[in-house]
Amino acid sequence: MRADGKNMKSNKKDSLKVKEYRSRLENAEGYGKVWEIVKATVKSSLNERRVGMMLFLDDLPLRLGAYHSLGTNNLVLNRALVNIVEATSKSKRLINSFVYVLLLHEYLHALGRPREAQVRPLVYKISRECFGQNHITTQLAEIGPWSILKGIPLDAMDVPKRVIEIVKDFEKADKKYII
Ligand SMILES: [Zn+2]
Repeated sequence: MRADGKNMKSNKKDSLKVKEYRSRLENAEGYGKVWEIVKATVKSSLNERRVGMMLFLDDLPLRLGAYHSLGTNNLVLNRALVNIVEATSKSKRLINSFVYVLLLHEYLHALGRPREAQVRPLVYKISRECFGQNHITTQLAEIGPWSILKGIPLDAMDVPKRVIEIVKDFEKADKKYII
């Protein structure tokens, strides 16, 4: 709110950063690209990084979005849940925001924060800093990613159980959600 040059400069820089992350997320094709944004935003907000993570897709209970197995490099994302989001929304921005929030949450666990009480506020802080207050990612981070599935009877749905699948070349991947 101050009019001195220094702050105006840093505000301008911030809004450019927000613009760039929004556009990257909106155009990201596949898990590997969303993952690059997860890593870039964590580096930008916390100056932390971890390489060599692997992503698996599995059909899990629908109240579970993803998990990180402690002591491993493995992240597991709930493919069944992502499929439901894809079936209910054609918006790539929304689908990518949903995946981003889930992966960011697990990445923060993998960076050495085992507690939910540490991770949840940080997911919100990073989203707000990198996408701005009024972006869908920040809203999902604030009220929870399940909010976009409000009205869908998740508890009554039968989830087909398929084999667990590894996302190949996740750290440099270009894999689409649906093959
Ligand atoms: Zn968690």
